[in-house]
Amino acid sequence: MKIYINGKFYDRNAARISVFDHGLLYGDGVFEGIRAYKRLVFKLEEHIDRLFESAHTIMLNIPLTKEQVIKAVIQTLKMNKLDDAYIRLVVTRGEGDLGLDPRKCLGHATVIIIADKIKLYPEEFYKNGLAIITVPTVRNLPEALNPQIKSLNYLNNILAKIEAINAGCDEAIMLDSLGYVAECTGDNIFIVKNDHLFTPPQCMGTLRGITRDTVMEIAGKSKIPVHEHVITRHEVYNSDECFLTGTAAEIIPVVKVDGRIIGRGKPGKLTLDLMKKFKVATKKEGVRY
Ligand code: PMP
Repeated sequence: MKIYINGKFYDRNAARISVFDHGLLYGDGVFEGIRAYKRLVFKLEEHIDRLFESAHTIMLNIPLTKEQVIKAVIQTLKMNKLDDAYIRLVVTRGEGDLGLDPRKCLGHATVIIIADKIKLYPEEFYKNGLAIITVPTVRNLPEALNPQIKSLNYLNNILAKIEAINAGCDEAIMLDSLGYVAECTGDNIFIVKNDHLFTPPQCMGTLRGITRDTVMEIAGKSKIPVHEHVITRHEVYNSDECFLTGTAAEIIPVVKVDGRIIGRGKPGKLTLDLMKKFKVATKKEGVRY
């Protein structure tokens, strides 16, 4: 495996960054998780746009243009001879001293690209659906650390994930500070009620997921009404269908939330239809190499 760090490729064991890198010391940096399907990097431009927006907000200067980042991603995929891949693109503040001050970070941000084989979720998740729970850890408040910034600091999500695992679940619904549904630890959430789709808006403390956007696009084309709307737990429990979206997970049906059966307790019709249409989109929309 060859890993890209600041324009050079290193073997896995030789790919190292400084212990003074503020990405490590403070989670000071941004990242993207991207996927390639049969030599097509799905929605790569959208991922790069989101990366640059996250970096802009934390005043992190990415030392490459968007076009150069796209080239570097493609180069990494080719170097590793991968047709299908999961790509992790990371930009840290770089090497500084032990204080917080980002001005002390020498020269350049650290740009890292890792391309690996995708580890698929077990097939039964998609066939039978997931049982998930809501957890006590509240999603980061947008007015404190906006979840729209895809930062390297994922401790909020990890705490929620630990709570889910302790309860025997693989994913958790995180609520906002008022108790409304925000998103999951690594996925966005949708519910279906009377053939309408509902998902929380960004102001509730959610990442603007690329998969979420894709699902909304597909729904639009299929004339399925989509609403970005406040969602309560009651509405989730009484929804007809529920599913999660994310780059790694794609679309995963949810059949049980906090012990309440959703719909008929198996993946719903609309969810299954969206899963099919999403598969088609992954063959078309992105950058080929
Ligand atoms: N929310 C969170 C917290 C995430 O980490 C992710 C995965 N990046 C998502 C939602 C889904 O976003 P995307 O569809 O862009 O992968």
